[in-house]
Amino acid sequence: MNNTKTTQLREVSLEPMACNGCRGCIELNPDIFGWDDLSDRPFLITDKADEEDIRDAMTCCPGDCISLQSEG
Ligand code: SF4
Repeated sequence: MNNTKTTQLREVSLEPMACNGCRGCIELNPDIFGWDDLSDRPFLITDKADEEDIRDAMTCCPGDCISLQSEG
C-alpha cells in the first residue's frame, strides 16, 4: 500500500546573522541543526532535509535564518 507521507528532500540554508540563540531549530530537529559553542550559533549538519522538517524549522525561527532553496 502507498504511504501517505511524501518525503521530499530539499536543500536547506542557514544564515544565522539574525539568530537570537533560542536553539528552537535544534530542539525541533537535531538531525538537521547542530550548535556551535565557539561561535554561539547554529550550523547545518546536512544540506538536504525533508521539506516538511525544513518548513517547521522556518516557522519556529524568530530570526528568519532558515530558508528552503529552490529545486536545482
Ligand atoms: S531557531 Fe532561528 S533564532 Fe533560534 S537558534 Fe535556530 S536559527 Fe537561531
